Amino acid sequence: AWLTSRPLAGLLAALDSDGEEARVSGGAVRDALLGDAPGDVDVATTATPQVVLARAADRGWKTVPTGLAHGTVTVIVDGTPFEVTTLRRDVATDGRRAVVAFTRDWAEDAQRRDLTINGLYLDRSGVVHDHVGGLADLKARRVRFIGSACERIREDYLRILRFFRFHARYAEGAPDPDGLLASVRQREGLVSLSRERVRAELLKLLVARRAAETIAVMAQAGLLAPLIGGAYRLARLDRLTRLDARAPDALLRLAALSQFVSEDAERLRSRLRLSNAEAERLEKIGDMIPALSPDGDEAAARRLLYREGAEAYRDRVRLAWADAGKEPGDWRWAMLLTLPDRWKAPPLPFSAADLFDRGVPPGPRMGRALRAAERAWIAADFPDGATAVAQVLEFALGEVGEL
Ligand code: ATP
Ligand code: MG
Repeated sequence: AWLTSRPLAGLLAALDSDGEEARVSGGAVRDALLGDAPGDVDVATTATPQVVLARAADRGWKTVPTGLAHGTVTVIVDGTPFEVTTLRRDVATDGRRAVVAFTRDWAEDAQRRDLTINGLYLDRSGVVHDHVGGLADLKARRVRFIGSACERIREDYLRILRFFRFHARYAEGAPDPDGLLASVRQREGLVSLSRERVRAELLKLLVARRAAETIAVMAQAGLLAPLIGGAYRLARLDRLTRLDARAPDALLRLAALSQFVSEDAERLRSRLRLSNAEAERLEKIGDMIPALSPDGDEAAARRLLYREGAEAYRDRVRLAWADAGKEPGDWRWAMLLTLPDRWKAPPLPFSAADLFDRGVPPGPRMGRALRAAERAWIAADFPDGATAVAQVLEFALGEVGEL
């Protein structure tokens, strides 16, 4: 259906005419053939960037010279952006970026892509063009490199990560032995990659269907250490992926994989260029202190929820659940997880005025008394009856009186 959607059909008609050809390429073709909703739609064309720019201008479409030197122009048709890239072949590569030349040969363009399932093209009449055996691999759910795995990885070490990411997402069974062996042999190349590129691929890998099994293979093959260092908890990641399969969360899965989450947060922040908010989330998840368990009473969970807020609380419950190991189906975990939906802390039933009435002068003593009263109120499980509140205040007065 998306092939005949107006913006895409219009773009293809504009570029696939008057001596030029244009086809949808790469990920969108793969996803469409598998019945998944395609994300970004990329278009490959024989037309040079100048021709693409001119034809877009004729039709009043906005363009952005995204990567003009590499042949990429973003064309915005009725509000939908498309990356349009002129067919290319590699002239030279250094393992991180390639020098390219334009070509009019579709097979050459396909040859420089990474995996066979990513090397397909779809023309505007709906015909799939396959120069690399991608269709057969897609049907068999096989993830393989185009040509020699060793050479393809040497051209761009990120392809190691992409190989495992697409394996985790689509493949059945074990990774392709050629790809696995070539990845292991060239794993040193991983350290030369930019952190942004590693971050993007790794986070996508983590949310894939078979993330846990695939990451276990990578860890065993020594492919994880060059990327994120440290030691891992593969079993915990495995259990988390069973719990959160419907709404996978990359960062939480990364936390599950870490040995000591709060200690690893700083290393992961720098290795993967995490944002401050992401790193703080990891730090907050902490290491199950205080330990959460469905055996404890719910009051302990309420205290944690009150102190940490709903997001950090949910993170901790999920991770503690994955950590507990036994019986992940235990309904009591689900009860803990849904606590924020069922319970909201009442507002503090006292204020500085109440303590003032009981003889606490304004100033630092008041601050201490208020904090002591809040602690006592939390420990008493958030009472709001007059007698219980009076007891909480008495307790607080006693505590600051002793200081
Ligand atoms: P996603 O659905 O995650 O976007 P994708 O296959 O579209 O997957 P992109 O990174 O958007 O991935 O790349 C688009 C296409 O460009 C790929 O399908 C592949 O043909 C090619 N490609 C991307 N990165 C590389 C690479 N490092 N080496 C070779 N070809 C690549
Ligand atoms: Mg894409």
